[in-house]
Amino acid sequence: MSDQDTSTRFIFKGADIRGNFVRISDSYRSAIAGHQYPEEIKHLLGEFLVAAQLMASTIKFEGKLTLQAKGNGAIRAVMAETSHDGKTRAIAQLAESAQPYDFASLKDGLLAVTIAPKGRQNYQSMVPMTGDNLAACLKHYFEQSEQLGTLFHLAVEPGRAAGMLIQQLPGQLETDEKLRSEHWRTTQILSDTLTPEELLEKDNQTILKHLFAEEDIQVLGATELNFSCSCSQERMAGALASLGSAELEEIFREEEKVELTCEFCSRSYEFNAATLTEILSRNEKLH
Ligand SMILES: [Zn+2]
Repeated sequence: MSDQDTSTRFIFKGADIRGNFVRISDSYRSAIAGHQYPEEIKHLLGEFLVAAQLMASTIKFEGKLTLQAKGNGAIRAVMAETSHDGKTRAIAQLAESAQPYDFASLKDGLLAVTIAPKGRQNYQSMVPMTGDNLAACLKHYFEQSEQLGTLFHLAVEPGRAAGMLIQQLPGQLETDEKLRSEHWRTTQILSDTLTPEELLEKDNQTILKHLFAEEDIQVLGATELNFSCSCSQERMAGALASLGSAELEEIFREEEKVELTCEFCSRSYEFNAATLTEILSRNEKLH
Protein backbone atom coordinates (compact mmCIF):
# COMPACT_ATOMS: atom_id res chain seq x y z
CA MET A 1 0.00 0.00 0.00
CA SER A 2 1.34 3.45 -0.78
CA ASP A 3 1.22 6.13 1.89
CA GLN A 4 -1.67 7.80 0.09
CA ASP A 5 -4.80 8.18 2.24
CA THR A 6 -3.50 6.26 5.20
CA SER A 7 -3.19 6.54 8.94
CA THR A 8 -0.08 4.72 10.18
CA ARG A 9 0.85 4.07 13.81
CA PHE A 10 4.35 3.70 15.22
CA ILE A 11 5.92 3.18 18.64
CA PHE A 12 9.27 3.99 20.21
CA LYS A 13 10.36 0.58 21.44
CA GLY A 14 12.54 1.75 24.33
CA ALA A 15 10.30 4.55 25.59
CA ASP A 16 6.72 5.35 26.48
CA ILE A 17 6.16 7.30 23.30
CA ARG A 18 3.98 6.59 20.31
CA GLY A 19 3.09 8.35 17.14
CA ASN A 20 1.01 8.41 14.02
CA PHE A 21 1.28 9.62 10.44
CA VAL A 22 -1.75 10.65 8.42
CA ARG A 23 -1.61 11.29 4.68
CA ILE A 24 -4.62 12.28 2.61
CA SER A 25 -5.08 13.20 -1.02
CA ASP A 26 -8.03 11.49 -2.77
CA SER A 27 -10.20 11.61 0.37
CA TYR A 28 -9.22 15.25 0.90
CA ARG A 29 -10.03 16.22 -2.68
CA SER A 30 -13.40 14.45 -2.46
CA ALA A 31 -14.21 16.15 0.85
CA ILE A 32 -13.81 19.63 -0.64
CA ALA A 33 -15.18 18.87 -4.10
CA GLY A 34 -18.56 20.36 -4.86
CA HIS A 35 -17.90 23.37 -2.62
CA GLN A 36 -16.66 26.77 -3.70
CA TYR A 37 -14.28 27.22 -0.81
CA PRO A 38 -11.62 29.96 -0.86
CA GLU A 39 -8.02 28.61 -0.87
CA GLU A 40 -7.47 29.44 2.81
CA ILE A 41 -10.51 27.39 3.75
CA LYS A 42 -9.40 24.42 1.64
CA HIS A 43 -6.10 24.61 3.49
CA LEU A 44 -7.81 24.77 6.88
CA LEU A 45 -10.08 21.84 6.05
CA GLY A 46 -6.99 19.82 5.10
CA GLU A 47 -5.55 20.53 8.54
CA PHE A 48 -8.81 19.63 10.27
CA LEU A 49 -9.18 16.36 8.37
CA VAL A 50 -5.63 15.31 9.23
CA ALA A 51 -5.96 16.45 12.84
CA ALA A 52 -9.26 14.60 13.38
CA GLN A 53 -7.62 11.46 12.07
CA LEU A 54 -4.57 11.93 14.30
CA MET A 55 -6.81 12.42 17.33
CA ALA A 56 -8.78 9.30 16.47
CA SER A 57 -5.48 7.39 16.45
CA THR A 58 -4.95 8.20 20.13
CA ILE A 59 -8.14 6.54 21.37
CA LYS A 60 -9.77 3.17 21.07
CA PHE A 61 -13.36 3.59 19.99
CA GLU A 62 -15.95 2.40 17.59
CA GLY A 63 -18.02 5.23 16.20
CA LYS A 64 -17.32 8.79 15.13
CA LEU A 65 -14.94 11.50 16.21
CA THR A 66 -15.63 15.12 15.31
CA LEU A 67 -13.20 17.99 15.57
CA GLN A 68 -14.93 21.33 15.33
CA ALA A 69 -13.96 24.97 15.73
CA LYS A 70 -16.52 27.71 16.10
CA GLY A 71 -15.72 31.37 15.69
CA ASN A 72 -17.51 34.69 15.61
CA GLY A 73 -15.63 36.20 12.68
CA ALA A 74 -15.38 35.43 8.98
CA ILE A 75 -15.22 31.70 9.69
CA ARG A 76 -18.30 30.54 11.55
CA ALA A 77 -17.36 26.89 11.85
CA VAL A 78 -14.92 24.32 10.54
CA MET A 79 -15.60 20.68 11.14
CA ALA A 80 -13.99 17.37 10.26
CA GLU A 81 -15.40 14.01 11.14
CA THR A 82 -13.92 10.53 11.03
CA SER A 83 -15.10 7.07 11.90
CA HIS A 84 -12.87 4.49 13.65
CA ASP A 85 -12.43 2.74 10.29
CA GLY A 86 -11.26 5.82 8.42
CA LYS A 87 -14.39 7.25 6.77
CA THR A 88 -14.01 11.00 6.73
CA ARG A 89 -15.89 14.13 5.74
CA ALA A 90 -15.55 17.85 6.47
CA ILE A 91 -17.33 21.15 6.13
CA ALA A 92 -16.80 24.88 6.66
CA GLN A 93 -19.41 27.54 7.27
CA LEU A 94 -18.42 31.05 6.35
CA ALA A 95 -19.89 34.42 7.17
CA GLU A 96 -20.76 36.57 4.19
CA SER A 97 -18.14 39.13 4.92
CA ALA A 98 -15.15 40.63 3.20
CA GLN A 99 -12.77 39.70 6.00
CA PRO A 100 -9.84 37.44 5.21
CA TYR A 101 -10.56 33.82 6.07
CA ASP A 102 -7.50 33.31 8.23
CA PHE A 103 -7.02 31.30 11.37
CA ALA A 104 -7.08 34.48 13.47
CA SER A 105 -10.78 34.87 12.69
CA LEU A 106 -11.38 31.73 14.77
CA LYS A 107 -9.60 33.19 17.77
CA ASP A 108 -11.82 33.78 20.81
CA GLY A 109 -13.78 30.81 19.53
CA LEU A 110 -13.96 27.27 20.84
CA LEU A 111 -12.39 24.01 19.77
CA ALA A 112 -14.59 21.02 20.49
CA VAL A 113 -13.89 17.32 20.24
CA THR A 114 -16.91 15.06 20.21
CA ILE A 115 -16.74 11.30 20.37
CA ALA A 116 -19.87 9.40 19.46
CA PRO A 117 -19.30 5.75 20.32
CA LYS A 118 -21.72 3.35 18.66
CA GLY A 119 -24.73 2.68 20.87
CA ARG A 120 -23.44 4.82 23.72
CA GLN A 121 -23.75 8.43 24.79
CA ASN A 122 -21.63 11.10 23.10
CA TYR A 123 -19.05 12.96 25.04
CA GLN A 124 -17.62 16.32 24.21
CA SER A 125 -14.74 18.37 25.52
CA MET A 126 -13.97 21.98 24.68
CA VAL A 127 -11.07 24.38 24.96
CA PRO A 128 -10.71 28.02 23.92
CA MET A 129 -8.79 28.54 20.66
CA THR A 130 -5.70 29.97 22.26
CA GLY A 131 -2.97 29.11 19.73
CA ASP A 132 -1.92 30.81 16.52
CA ASN A 133 -2.64 27.72 14.48
CA LEU A 134 -4.52 24.45 14.79
CA ALA A 135 -1.47 22.42 15.87
CA ALA A 136 -0.86 24.82 18.77
CA CYS A 137 -4.54 24.69 19.82
CA LEU A 138 -4.48 20.90 19.80
CA LYS A 139 -1.31 20.80 21.88
CA HIS A 140 -3.09 22.99 24.40
CA TYR A 141 -6.16 20.77 24.25
CA PHE A 142 -4.11 17.72 25.22
CA GLU A 143 -2.30 19.59 28.00
CA GLN A 144 -5.71 20.41 29.49
CA SER A 145 -7.41 17.10 29.04
CA GLU A 146 -4.78 14.36 29.14
CA GLN A 147 -1.75 15.84 30.86
CA LEU A 148 0.39 13.79 28.51
CA GLY A 149 2.66 15.61 26.10
CA THR A 150 1.22 15.53 22.59
CA LEU A 151 2.72 17.18 19.51
CA PHE A 152 1.03 17.84 16.19
CA HIS A 153 2.71 18.64 12.89
CA LEU A 154 0.36 19.53 10.07
CA ALA A 155 1.18 20.35 6.45
CA VAL A 156 -1.11 21.12 3.54
CA GLU A 157 -0.60 21.86 -0.13
CA PRO A 158 -3.29 21.98 -2.82
CA GLY A 159 -4.92 18.54 -3.02
CA ARG A 160 -2.73 16.93 -0.40
CA ALA A 161 -2.25 17.06 3.36
CA ALA A 162 -0.16 15.24 5.94
CA GLY A 163 0.34 15.15 9.67
CA MET A 164 2.47 13.59 12.34
CA LEU A 165 1.53 13.12 15.96
CA ILE A 166 3.94 12.25 18.74
CA GLN A 167 2.49 11.39 22.13
CA GLN A 168 3.82 10.55 25.54
CA LEU A 169 2.31 7.47 27.18
CA PRO A 170 1.95 6.83 30.91
CA GLY A 171 5.32 5.72 32.37
CA GLN A 172 5.81 1.99 32.06
CA LEU A 173 9.16 1.40 30.36
CA GLU A 174 10.80 4.53 31.74
CA THR A 175 9.83 4.94 35.39
CA ASP A 176 12.50 7.45 36.40
CA GLU A 177 10.64 10.79 36.16
CA LYS A 178 13.78 12.76 35.34
CA LEU A 179 14.92 10.46 32.54
CA ARG A 180 11.38 10.27 31.25
CA SER A 181 10.95 14.02 30.98
CA GLU A 182 14.43 14.43 29.48
CA HIS A 183 13.65 11.84 26.84
CA TRP A 184 10.39 13.59 26.04
CA ARG A 185 12.13 16.97 25.81
CA THR A 186 14.70 15.59 23.35
CA THR A 187 11.95 13.97 21.31
CA GLN A 188 10.12 17.27 21.19
CA ILE A 189 13.20 19.20 20.04
CA LEU A 190 13.94 16.62 17.34
CA SER A 191 10.34 16.44 16.14
CA ASP A 192 10.22 20.24 15.89
CA THR A 193 12.94 20.12 13.22
CA LEU A 194 10.46 18.52 10.82
CA THR A 195 9.48 20.99 8.10
CA PRO A 196 6.09 20.97 6.33
CA GLU A 197 7.91 20.25 3.04
CA GLU A 198 9.62 17.17 4.48
CA LEU A 199 6.37 15.96 5.98
CA LEU A 200 4.66 16.19 2.59
CA GLU A 201 7.51 14.95 0.39
CA LYS A 202 9.28 12.21 2.35
CA ASP A 203 7.82 8.83 3.23
CA ASN A 204 7.09 7.81 6.83
CA GLN A 205 10.13 5.56 7.30
CA THR A 206 12.54 8.17 5.94
CA ILE A 207 11.10 10.85 8.22
CA LEU A 208 11.40 8.67 11.32
CA LYS A 209 14.97 7.64 10.49
CA HIS A 210 15.92 11.21 9.82
CA LEU A 211 14.31 12.70 12.94
CA PHE A 212 15.02 9.96 15.47
CA ALA A 213 18.20 8.23 14.27
CA GLU A 214 19.00 6.98 17.79
CA GLU A 215 15.62 5.41 18.43
CA ASP A 216 14.34 1.93 17.76
CA ILE A 217 10.98 2.64 16.15
CA GLN A 218 8.47 0.08 15.04
CA VAL A 219 5.95 1.04 12.39
CA LEU A 220 2.63 -0.70 12.98
CA GLY A 221 -0.33 -1.29 10.73
CA ALA A 222 -1.89 1.32 8.50
CA THR A 223 -5.58 2.11 8.12
CA GLU A 224 -6.88 3.20 4.75
CA LEU A 225 -8.79 6.48 4.74
CA ASN A 226 -11.77 7.23 2.52
CA PHE A 227 -14.13 10.07 1.98
CA SER A 228 -17.59 8.87 2.84
CA CYS A 229 -20.71 10.79 3.68
CA SER A 230 -23.26 9.27 6.03
CA CYS A 231 -26.20 11.15 4.53
CA SER A 232 -29.15 9.14 3.18
CA GLN A 233 -32.69 9.55 1.88
CA GLU A 234 -33.96 8.44 5.30
CA ARG A 235 -31.87 10.96 7.22
CA MET A 236 -32.90 13.76 4.90
CA ALA A 237 -36.53 12.73 5.28
CA GLY A 238 -36.01 12.86 9.02
CA ALA A 239 -34.68 16.41 8.72
CA LEU A 240 -37.71 17.42 6.66
CA ALA A 241 -40.05 15.72 9.12
CA SER A 242 -38.64 17.79 11.97
CA LEU A 243 -40.38 20.81 10.42
CA GLY A 244 -43.66 19.36 11.62
CA SER A 245 -46.65 18.12 9.65
CA ALA A 246 -48.46 21.50 9.42
CA GLU A 247 -45.43 23.15 7.86
CA LEU A 248 -44.84 20.22 5.51
CA GLU A 249 -48.45 20.25 4.29
CA GLU A 250 -48.07 23.93 3.59
CA ILE A 251 -44.83 23.35 1.63
CA PHE A 252 -46.26 20.55 -0.49
CA ARG A 253 -49.39 22.54 -1.19
CA GLU A 254 -47.17 25.08 -2.94
CA GLU A 255 -44.43 22.85 -4.32
CA GLU A 256 -44.75 19.59 -6.13
CA LYS A 257 -41.35 18.48 -4.92
CA VAL A 258 -38.69 19.61 -2.51
CA GLU A 259 -34.99 19.19 -3.06
CA LEU A 260 -32.57 18.97 -0.16
CA THR A 261 -28.82 19.10 -0.62
CA CYS A 262 -26.41 17.51 1.83
CA GLU A 263 -24.11 20.27 3.05
CA PHE A 264 -21.18 17.84 3.33
CA CYS A 265 -21.15 16.03 0.00
CA SER A 266 -23.53 18.22 -2.06
CA ARG A 267 -25.61 15.20 -3.01
CA SER A 268 -29.21 16.19 -3.52
CA TYR A 269 -32.31 14.34 -2.45
CA GLU A 270 -35.75 14.87 -3.91
CA PHE A 271 -39.01 14.49 -2.08
CA ASN A 272 -42.62 14.78 -3.03
CA ALA A 273 -45.54 14.42 -0.65
CA ALA A 274 -45.89 10.71 -1.42
CA THR A 275 -42.24 9.68 -0.98
CA LEU A 276 -42.00 11.65 2.21
CA THR A 277 -45.06 10.01 3.74
CA GLU A 278 -43.70 6.62 2.78
CA ILE A 279 -40.28 7.22 4.31
CA LEU A 280 -41.76 8.66 7.48
CA SER A 281 -44.05 5.71 8.03
CA ARG A 282 -41.11 3.35 7.45
CA ASN A 283 -39.10 5.31 10.04
CA GLU A 284 -41.98 5.09 12.50
CA LYS A 285 -42.12 1.32 12.16
CA LEU A 286 -38.46 1.15 13.11
CA HIS A 287 -39.08 2.93 16.42
ZN1 LIG B 1 -23.78 13.77 2.22
